Amino acid sequence: MNTKPHILGGPKTRSKPLSGRHAFGTEEQAAVSQVLDSGCLSGFIGAKGSLFNGGPYIQKFEAECSEYFGYKHCITVNSWTTGLMACAGAIGISPGDEVICPPYTMSASATAVLFYGGIPVFADIDPIHCCIDPASIESKITERTKAIVAVHLFGYPCDLDAIQAIATKHNLKVIEDAAQAPGTKYQGKHVGGLIDIGGFSLNFHKHINTGEGGIIVTNNDEMAERCRLIRNHGENVLDDYPYEDLSNLIGSNYRLTELQAAIGSEQLKKLDLILEKRRTRAQILMDCLDELPGLSYPKLPDQAEHSYYTFPIIYDSAVNKIPRTRFIKALQAEMPEPEDWETTIVGQGYIKPLYWGRQYREKLGLGKMNFPFNLAPSIEYKKGDCPNCETLFLKTLITTDMVRDWAERDEMKDFARAIQKVYAHQSEIQQQFGSELEEAGFQLPHETIDALENAKNTK
Ligand SMILES: *Cc1c(COP(=O)(O)O)cnc(C)c1O
Repeated sequence: MNTKPHILGGPKTRSKPLSGRHAFGTEEQAAVSQVLDSGCLSGFIGAKGSLFNGGPYIQKFEAECSEYFGYKHCITVNSWTTGLMACAGAIGISPGDEVICPPYTMSASATAVLFYGGIPVFADIDPIHCCIDPASIESKITERTKAIVAVHLFGYPCDLDAIQAIATKHNLKVIEDAAQAPGTKYQGKHVGGLIDIGGFSLNFHKHINTGEGGIIVTNNDEMAERCRLIRNHGENVLDDYPYEDLSNLIGSNYRLTELQAAIGSEQLKKLDLILEKRRTRAQILMDCLDELPGLSYPKLPDQAEHSYYTFPIIYDSAVNKIPRTRFIKALQAEMPEPEDWETTIVGQGYIKPLYWGRQYREKLGLGKMNFPFNLAPSIEYKKGDCPNCETLFLKTLITTDMVRDWAERDEMKDFARAIQKVYAHQSEIQQQFGSELEEAGFQLPHETIDALENAKNTK
């Protein structure tokens, strides 16, 4: 049998197409019909009364989330970005407050605080599990630090014990961004609001979805109440508000619709099965990687459960013989061509460190004075700030979405075989594809590599 990798002329490991996603079924269709029949697509009223907190489907979905995630308060919002903004308001972020965030995350984890005048300060992440590093958090604390944003990236739980200890010591609040981690457990409990407040995203890419949407979770009564006010024109009900702190309660409209809530209820019922499938897929991959030095993955702490939004593979260039980019290209060649994000196989580097972007480099904010950055003249954002993050981005991180629940088991098995095949033939691949790309391969995104190759071919 010819077992040469496809890029060296052998057959692909798999040519049968990969499965696409079917996120919704008859359950969601029936739920949507029911809401339409009710004649009311959103029950919220922005004034005092029982509908201030939403109509029947919203209230039902929130109660089900409380039951499932084990939090006293679950507050739906129309995206997790607005959820993060509400959390920033609820914990009392004020102009000039510094908020320590990881730079390796979806941008909203950091920008949410800007809306209340908070200044994101980036702490480095752990080089293996990619979550914020408590030691780096400590090193960024000043007398202006007010809060920490802990992102459970890819579904891996952050070191919440250490983060809580820092928060207690310095009197800081913690927002958990668990957008990618519904079902992730830390010491046996669902992450999200284990310290103060946080929550999940319901956008189309996440484990369960309502198109757009989010869920704030907390056990803190006052923070929950503040979020409900921010969600729904809080200024209209402040006259009867029982708490003392009335700052940050200028309201907005972050309301989820009844239609989305009804879909959310059905999606939530499917979450356990989705998690079970993702964990089974991940196990196949971990069994494969355990045999291959130079390809590692983060190990879970005791009493933790991963939700496998994405699976990170750490590529050790001291052990492997080819550049990461070449490895990925060889791997992609073994599998069917992806048609869209639902059938992608691997990626490298995840996301550019946030502080590399123009938003931070040039400190672009509100108005010509660039509020709130104008309040923090001494804070600068520059390359080199978070070395572990930069190494993951440039050199060591491979991500794969093959852990997705809609992939059949045999798709993951084929992917594992493809990894083994490419891994075993690195020397031949290296021989065939000279050194010109080698150095660049560690550094550059696919587009650049492709451009280099094209230039070589047209010479
Ligand atoms: C998806 C995501 C968000 C934003 O959620 P939306 O619902 O799309 O607004 C925030 N943080 C992280 C880590 C995410 O993955």
